[in-house]
Amino acid sequence: MANSADIVIIGAGPAGCATALAFQRRGADTLVLESSAQSSRRLAGEWIHPRGVQFLQRLGVDLSSVEHATAKGFVVFPEDDSEPVMLPYSDSSLAVSGHHEALVGGLRAAVSDRSGITFATESRVTAIESDRVTYIDGRSGVPASVLAGRIIGADGRSSLVRESLGLPRGTRLSRMAGVLLENTELPFEGYGHILLGGPGPILIYRIGRCAARACIDVPLASPSRANTPAYLWEAYGPLFPSSLRPSFQAALHQRQIKWAANQFCPRTTYGDGRLALVGDAVGHFHPLTAAGLTLAMMDGECLARSPGIAAYGRERAADTRVAEILAIAIHRAFTAHDTATVALRGAIYDMWRRQPAERSRTMRMLALDEIRVSQFISAFLNAFGLAARSGIAAPLANGQWRQSAHALRSFGDWLAWLSPITWKIMARPAASRLARREAAADERQK
Ligand SMILES: Cc1cc2nc3c(=O)[nH]c(=O)nc-3n(C[C@H](O)[C@H](O)[C@H](O)COP(=O)(O)OP(=O)(O)OC[C@H]3O[C@@H](n4cnc5c(N)ncnc54)[C@H](O)[C@@H]3O)c2cc1C
Repeated sequence: MANSADIVIIGAGPAGCATALAFQRRGADTLVLESSAQSSRRLAGEWIHPRGVQFLQRLGVDLSSVEHATAKGFVVFPEDDSEPVMLPYSDSSLAVSGHHEALVGGLRAAVSDRSGITFATESRVTAIESDRVTYIDGRSGVPASVLAGRIIGADGRSSLVRESLGLPRGTRLSRMAGVLLENTELPFEGYGHILLGGPGPILIYRIGRCAARACIDVPLASPSRANTPAYLWEAYGPLFPSSLRPSFQAALHQRQIKWAANQFCPRTTYGDGRLALVGDAVGHFHPLTAAGLTLAMMDGECLARSPGIAAYGRERAADTRVAEILAIAIHRAFTAHDTATVALRGAIYDMWRRQPAERSRTMRMLALDEIRVSQFISAFLNAFGLAARSGIAAPLANGQWRQSAHALRSFGDWLAWLSPITWKIMARPAASRLARREAAADERQK
């Protein structure tokens, strides 16, 4: 292997592969180092929003050889057993869903095929010093090193590159149990199903001709036996549509369960000097909004066409704020059980049912097409106003003072929780000292 490269990418997950393909199109000589061919076997992203799919098409990644399904949007099953709410993508575009391993396999095959990219698998990076990357060579098993014009950390949530920048790791939000449902038909084929009303939300989607995936969110505060099939059946089985219960029960019986941790790490820093971060190494959220894969690939595309790391960071910080705050808000709205959140959930269903424009705005935000924070705030205030009317004003009109006062406190919690997050996210580029350092570094490099 050559002992220098224009670009050295650490990690061949979705972010690393997409970044390599984007740089290759610009003629860069690129080395991709991946520690393990098996890493894609874990429970992780399987739903790619239409924007991500279009991006893969532009990069010439052919998913036709990879088993997958397409999806028109989501359908939400409220906890009160009322009619499911349909949420199609606004422009009839399609998402793609498939086994994580198959999707990453398709990307890695594309990377291996391209001239100008060297793909070294079973090659774990152990150190980064200035422009030198040290790794264990996959073929010889001995340490080797390479000089890099630019080093890109696409090494996921436990990123070594992130660590070398002195950045903290994410915090745990909950756990996810992934269960494979075989030979089953979904009530709304062509849609991701979101089931609410359990200890945590459930997301079910088709991943192939004969299989669907159920991702079950298990809160950290669950009983110690929450990792057993018996608990999953008791706590979540009743929420499954009756047609899916037999396959859920069979999968639990065969112990076909994969576990993963759901974590939150804000997208604050995109790199420094010669080091850039892409994908989960930049930041990550609860997977309920299924944004991680699409964001990871868009990071790579943006980095490859940006004049420097500061410009890349500024553009991505602005473009991903809504995705981040939406993920935080939806996770909270779909998991908490206090008075205000229950009212807010009801208001959100109501808003989606009665206001087509809001339905479409939600889906544009979810699909990463709507990136203006003002649009998020406007949608949130719309739902919040509806919730406050039913949760505070209605009991007040009926003379239920104590209930109204309790609701008021609970609504106040939501506002108190949301405003600093919104403010921090809005103010982030101006406040980030690192962003200023990056800008100065970019200037110097010109
Ligand atoms: C349970 C769950 C469900 C999810 N569902 C969805 C979904 O449906 N849709 C969606 O968009 N997102 C989803 N996500 C998020 C999505 O999986 C991630 O955002 C995405 O995988 C990030 O890609 P990445 O390439 O940045 O990181 P990763 O996928 O983590 O890839 C990092 C790669 O770097 C390699 N690596 C790490 N360290 C080194 C090293 N030192 N040397 C060499 N190589 C190294 C790893 O082996 C790995 O291959 C989900 C996440 C979880 C946990």
